[in-house]
Amino acid sequence: MFTGFNIKYPEYEVITPQTGYSFNVSTLDVQGEERLKGSFLTPIKINEHLNKCIFESITKKPAHIKTYDDFLKNITLKDRDALLYGLYHITYEEIRNYDITCSSCQKDYPVTVKASSTFDMKSYPDGDKILKKEEQVELPISKGVYATIKQPTLFDEAMSLKSLGVAVGSNNDLITETLIISKFQQNPEEGDSVIYSDRNDILHAYKTLPSMDKRAIFNKYADVFGKYGISLKMKSTCIHCGNEEEIDIDLVANFFRMVFSVWQHKSVS
Ligand SMILES: [Zn+2]
Repeated sequence: MFTGFNIKYPEYEVITPQTGYSFNVSTLDVQGEERLKGSFLTPIKINEHLNKCIFESITKKPAHIKTYDDFLKNITLKDRDALLYGLYHITYEEIRNYDITCSSCQKDYPVTVKASSTFDMKSYPDGDKILKKEEQVELPISKGVYATIKQPTLFDEAMSLKSLGVAVGSNNDLITETLIISKFQQNPEEGDSVIYSDRNDILHAYKTLPSMDKRAIFNKYADVFGKYGISLKMKSTCIHCGNEEEIDIDLVANFFRMVFSVWQHKSVS
């Protein structure tokens, strides 16, 4: 009976950029990859498997994060990017055959780059106070309407996907976009003003906003929360026309691509 190899696998320390917590992650194993591959069904499943996969790869975590539920409630979406980066780095090291579409000639070409050479991070100065912070935005076009924004956690994301995922079908991008809004309120100075804090109401209200109101919300979010996190940037030169540009690598998309390509590679050989 197999009782496990007596091996200590390498670990990678990740400091989450927004909450400032320290985690160690260990490499994704075959079982973890298999589970991710089986999750290409619905956004809810993908999301759940991705979070579980990260949680199970953690070998050291802060004392107050004990259960999977604690993890979801204490980790922001931008923190997850950092953990995913750690997991990616320790599991695959290289970002292989990442397809870039040249902004000059519009042709595609693949690049391979060491993940660590693309890494950059900006930390939130007040640590996990970010989990409770909210900020009000006065909408410039919809006069008298205020949006309250926050930094969503993995728990907020899971709850929104669960409550809205089935009902609205193809609106997954909108669900993700509206995660940063905790409520809308019209004329808050009046005592009986209506507050919309239900996810469905927020989604419907968001869809009716003029474009400039949407931009005001996202500018405020970027300023207060969004600029804190990791980014994966690389300079790349187009093999067709020689155009040089800076590329932002989408790690979540690439993570799934890697899980698949490693698997396809394995199944061929
Ligand atoms: Zn080009």
